[in-house]
Amino acid sequence: MYINGQWQDAEDGSKFVVTNPANGDIIDHVPNGGETEVKAAIDAAAEAFKSWSKTSAYQRSSFLYRAHGLMLERKEDLARLMTTEQGKPLKAARNEVQYGADFLLWYAEEAKRIYGETIPAPRGDQRFIVQQHPVGVVAAVTPWNYPISMLTRKIAPALAAGCTIVLKPAESTPLCAIAMFKIFEEAGIPAGVVNLVTAEKPAAIGEEFVSNPKIAKLTFTGSTNVGKMLAQGAAANMKRVSMELGGHAPFIVFDDADPEHAAKGVSLVKFLNTGQACISPNRIFVHKSIVEPFIETLESRVRKMRGGNGLEDGISIGPLVGPGAVDKVERQVKDALDKGARLVCGGHRLIENGLEKGFFYAPTVLADVTEEMLIYREETFGPVAPILTFESEDEVLEKANDTNYGLAAYVYTPNIGRAFRMYEGLKFGIIGINDINPTAAAAPFGGMKESGLGREGGHEGISEYLETKLGGFSI
Ligand code: NAD
Repeated sequence: MYINGQWQDAEDGSKFVVTNPANGDIIDHVPNGGETEVKAAIDAAAEAFKSWSKTSAYQRSSFLYRAHGLMLERKEDLARLMTTEQGKPLKAARNEVQYGADFLLWYAEEAKRIYGETIPAPRGDQRFIVQQHPVGVVAAVTPWNYPISMLTRKIAPALAAGCTIVLKPAESTPLCAIAMFKIFEEAGIPAGVVNLVTAEKPAAIGEEFVSNPKIAKLTFTGSTNVGKMLAQGAAANMKRVSMELGGHAPFIVFDDADPEHAAKGVSLVKFLNTGQACISPNRIFVHKSIVEPFIETLESRVRKMRGGNGLEDGISIGPLVGPGAVDKVERQVKDALDKGARLVCGGHRLIENGLEKGFFYAPTVLADVTEEMLIYREETFGPVAPILTFESEDEVLEKANDTNYGLAAYVYTPNIGRAFRMYEGLKFGIIGINDINPTAAAAPFGGMKESGLGREGGHEGISEYLETKLGGFSI
């Protein structure tokens, strides 16, 4: 753990194991922090806030630039570590390291653009100014599926705003977080400004985050259930929250779209990170008139995907995070088949050639999916593409919006009017129109409804860590 600029073990010396999800090998042991360590980290962050919040934007920016440079120098090492610890294929890990570094660069620049305003006052002898001030000490909780970019997406804007931070990474990917904190240390970020507490059991840390009076804000990325629970705790103590939660993205292919091009898009975005992405399509609506060529193309692409250890060449399907994730996929596929879905390909665990030691599931395509099936409502977080058909624009818009989630949605159509109607009508925070990757450090990422509160990235991302302060001057 990294607390107040020092690397340290848990007070009682306890550790927990980190394993490779591709083969079950133990990679390392990391300190198992608890109440004592998280309290110490919060105290350190509160002390450091006194001076960090008074640094100039240019000083804060220079630390972020340095961390960005170090990340790029270590891109390959970070990517290999990520593949070993999290399982995604090396190429995807390299892309994630780059995406993670982009946030450091973007917020190194945004730090210098925290503008205020002056407002004409009602009295002649009065002046109003408005400034943006850092909210204070931030508590951050991050998930395992994007173990580096989810961390920089919070730390970079928090530091740029003048906040200090205590971060708890997911218990299955603490090594990526440790590697990133070594970079922050080498970048010269002062002691106490960034603190890392690793823990096998997150509940005690979460409890301290929402109740400790020194924490001003909680930023969380993970499941909707845990997010709701933490937001409740934070509300009881009037702490600010940002929540990046689950999703259930619709992917809509209209009859005027090229079915082969759209199927290629689905094959790329659905199986990214083995389906373990919050913006992964979970309901693929294809117009009835083009569903057959769409399925044909998707099937031929999916059948060529190879599962295995992401460090090997030619692997596009890595392991799922653990046995529970494989069970969930199996349960959803069985439920769909029992209720009349058609298995196009996949539909089983991958256990050949040593894969039984990891948590692999074959990339799967299901046709004839209906609203009665679990997969239509529950986030899958696995490599299953469920296909439904529709006949009219109104019908598909209503069905696409018929979910408690509201993170990402995708639409394929060359019709500009229809594209606008869908962009405006879909109740989701991120809409990809003929685009499967509508994300970047410069763009606001976040969801509506039960997919969360607030935005990360873009100029919106830094405002999550700022508080508006009015000054009224009588002159
Ligand atoms: P999770 O909620 O189980 O875990 C996420 C983090 O919360 C981990 O660090 C975990 O240790 C921690 N956590 C769990 N219980 C806690 C508690 N009681 N107190 C404090 N912390 C606690 O989710 P997961 O399974 O690791 O991640 C997958 C989920 O994350 C999916 O639902 C996915 O859609 C979502 N996600 C969302 C985004 C986004 O930006 N919206 C990005 C990535 C993942």
